[in-house]
Amino acid sequence: MIIIEGCAVATVDADSTEYRDGHVVVDQGRIVAVGPGHAGRHHRPVRRVDGTGCLVTPGLVNTHHHLYQWATRGLAQEEELFGWLRALYPVWAGLDADVVAATTAAGLGWLARSGCTTSTDHLYVHPRGAGDLMAAQVAAAAEIGLRFHPTRGSMDLGRSAGGLPPDEIVEETEAALAATEEAIDRFHDPADNAMLRIAVAPCSPFSVSPKLMTEAAALARRRGVRLHTHLAETIDEEHYCRETYGCTPVEYAERLGWLGDDVWLAHAVHLDDRAVARLAATGTSVAHCPSSNARLGAGTARVRDLLDAGVPVGLGVDGPASQETNQLDAELRQALYAARLRGGPAALTARQALALGTIGGARCLGRAGEIGSIEPGKLADLALWRLDGLGHTGIEDPVAALVLGPPAPLELLLVGGAPVVERGELRTADERDLVRRTRRAHRTLIRKARA
Ligand SMILES: [Zn+2]
Repeated sequence: MIIIEGCAVATVDADSTEYRDGHVVVDQGRIVAVGPGHAGRHHRPVRRVDGTGCLVTPGLVNTHHHLYQWATRGLAQEEELFGWLRALYPVWAGLDADVVAATTAAGLGWLARSGCTTSTDHLYVHPRGAGDLMAAQVAAAAEIGLRFHPTRGSMDLGRSAGGLPPDEIVEETEAALAATEEAIDRFHDPADNAMLRIAVAPCSPFSVSPKLMTEAAALARRRGVRLHTHLAETIDEEHYCRETYGCTPVEYAERLGWLGDDVWLAHAVHLDDRAVARLAATGTSVAHCPSSNARLGAGTARVRDLLDAGVPVGLGVDGPASQETNQLDAELRQALYAARLRGGPAALTARQALALGTIGGARCLGRAGEIGSIEPGKLADLALWRLDGLGHTGIEDPVAALVLGPPAPLELLLVGGAPVVERGELRTADERDLVRRTRRAHRTLIRKARA
């Protein structure tokens, strides 16, 4: 049992309930009480956390990532998406289970340090003979202790068939589908307190055949798991879809059965009004990745319009090769800035940005009943931010301090009530070891690419 008290509380519940001085009580991995003032006496052994000078929020939810890219950062710095991908595909062709294990642990450890308690991943490069990459990911995520929603990604449309990736790193359609179903069989946990759930994630319109898209959707629905893909990220992709399929990316997705309340789409930057309306009408969610979109010069998503239409929107750091910072708390501010650059200072409030990073992300992952807000009965995924240091002192409003101020020191991060970060340090792994393993993974990939 853990009691956090003496802190500000932003619950991000449906009424946006906040307490300037409040408490949260955690028992057996779940939130059992939240309210103003102190928690009162308890007869059981309790860890009391003094939250003076802090703000407690729901743990942040990351809705789009490519953890394997942790070892390939800082490359192709001035490229747009297609040029960037062409430069990086040959490097990623060297992926193996060791690289995936090292980068998963490093990337999730870093995400935990930025207040993230649940993350997805999109691993779509499965070179022949690379080994059991999904098992490597699952084991590494368990080591770090975050709630993990890895997707079994796939590509089957190589260059010779009109796609963007080289033929060497795409799979046969049937093999990709079989491996996807195998990942569900081996790892997916439907329980409401699950630490691991699998989703189905063919990569993008320019790297996946319509057949794989269609059959992947059928597979996911037959097995009751969610669907994820990249869509409408760049103008180049829109041109590709118009030339190849004679329609916009969203029309293409709809034609293939890829709109629905079990689908979350990464990016969705280039949408016309009709596309926004179709996402809203079908309950399709969007993983908004403002820093990655800025790094690649892809454009600025219409987040205000999506929210006004009723589309669930979460935040994603995206792969660290297109967004080297990869801090989810910083993405709250970036989302606010991006929305305001598009729509003016009222386009997104600090509280709306926090909602994107918490309950919005939970909706994308189909877990709004379990995570994403501080409410009795929900899982105890909590971030306690220290706001009384030099970087934040003098900011009147704690939520504004978190969102508009510099990334805040993390006093405590709980996942299902278990501490993952304390006083800014990762408790579940040795960071020096993560650095060593990542450096080795980086060298392996660069050496293989030059060979
Ligand atoms: Zn991506």
